[in-house]
Amino acid sequence: MNKLYVVGIGPGEYEQMTIKAINALKESEVIIGYTVYVDLIKDHFGDKEFLTTPMKKEVDRCMLAFEEAQKGKNVSLVCSGDSGIYGMAGLILEIGQKYECVEVEIIPGITAASSGAAVLGAPLIHDFAVISLSDLLTPMEKIEKRLQCAAEADFGICLYNPSSKKRFDYLQKACDIVLKFASEDTVCGVVRNIGREGEAIEVMSLKELRDKEVDMFTTVYIGNSQTKNINGKMVTPRGYKNV
Ligand code: SAH
Repeated sequence: MNKLYVVGIGPGEYEQMTIKAINALKESEVIIGYTVYVDLIKDHFGDKEFLTTPMKKEVDRCMLAFEEAQKGKNVSLVCSGDSGIYGMAGLILEIGQKYECVEVEIIPGITAASSGAAVLGAPLIHDFAVISLSDLLTPMEKIEKRLQCAAEADFGICLYNPSSKKRFDYLQKACDIVLKFASEDTVCGVVRNIGREGEAIEVMSLKELRDKEVDMFTTVYIGNSQTKNINGKMVTPRGYKNV
């Protein structure tokens, strides 16, 4: 049976890909993905055929992957981070209902929440909620409700897609919702370009985060009420006594 791997390639650097992901890519004749992700891995898989599609062409990209696999090739569709977290794994399985002769295998990857957390310190060590601020596929009211519930329950919060050119004030709006339940001194952090050139972190208060400009290559962390800034690292205590 023809094989279609849906591969999470991690945040960017080769060392943060799993061996299973590397093996799937090695076994594939064709690697398909959004241009930025293909560029991240191209140098390590020089002998492959690469097919790229622009952003927002997700359905086309999935169809292309199935069409190539149907030709009798092993194909990998690559996503950044984990393909099952704001990635293509779900869409592939939905579209796959029409392509019974192609076997799909999902290969997990390190998602931005954990790769970014490692750079910041240990912000997510306790219960946390992951929320995307993109309202392309989710109504804004639902995003706001989720932010409100997570803040009310004192979850640590990790925000994906915190901003874009059209949505420049979304992070500010999100912080305003959280500020209804959390102190303005709540420790927060941002990580840009995790595992890529120009990786940078900043730890700040929730009040400062509200006025921070971020871009779509950034993951944002809002601590819970216990989160501390320890020498520039964002640390949420696990609850051990006597430290
Ligand atoms: N499937 C991906 C998430 C895709 S959504 C994953 O599991 O990581 C895109 C959002 O993820 C970005 O807007 C950003 O918030 C976050 N992100 C993904 N890769 C990142 C990186 N290398 N550095 C910083 N943020 C990243």
